[in-house]
Amino acid sequence: MQGFNKYYPPDFFDNVEKNGSLNAYRGKHALGDRARKLDQGILITRFELPFNIWCGTCNNHIGMGVRYNAEKKKIGAYYSTPIFSFRCKCHLCDAWFEIHTDPKNTRYVVVSGARQKDEDWNPEENGGYAVHDTEAHAVPVDPLASLEKTTDVQKGLVKAQDRLESLQEVSEHYNSDPFSLSSKVRKRFREEKKVEKPRNRRTTR
Ligand SMILES: [Zn+2]
Repeated sequence: MQGFNKYYPPDFFDNVEKNGSLNAYRGKHALGDRARKLDQGILITRFELPFNIWCGTCNNHIGMGVRYNAEKKKIGAYYSTPIFSFRCKCHLCDAWFEIHTDPKNTRYVVVSGARQKDEDWNPEENGGYAVHDTEAHAVPVDPLASLEKTTDVQKGLVKAQDRLESLQEVSEHYNSDPFSLSSKVRKRFREEKKVEKPRNRRTTR
């Protein structure tokens, strides 16, 4: 790990006991501006919307993944797991909405200021159609384009088949007679040893 080099002003060491930490000396918190409401138990964090919502004030749709500087605060606990509240300011109308963690159901819930898109809503139960069925009724793709695609795929398959066969041939060549192959190797090893021995003797003398 890299060292943390901090700049200590020259007069800092004049009274270390009084000055305490560097942040105390500067009158700042280590988290800087993010800690400006820490006395209220609020930390400013980056919060990413975990689902689509509609702002309750301006009624605009805000997409999942939009990020806010949220005021994060512990508001309770579910057994030993803290429950957090995230207060965000709508970027379209400056109204606040609040989302809580729900450890019991391992999810987030909109508490106020916005409406959450109900992902569990079943259109079939409500006299509509199932959304996932729409793909079946999609416009058929251009038959010529899809034909071209399949021939490309087939070409690829033929190539792969060729390569596989040549690999098998190589493999069969080497595995056809393991005994003669290994005796060949042993013979070569013995010959090399014979050459090595006199050479070694020469060097030891
Ligand atoms: Zn809004």
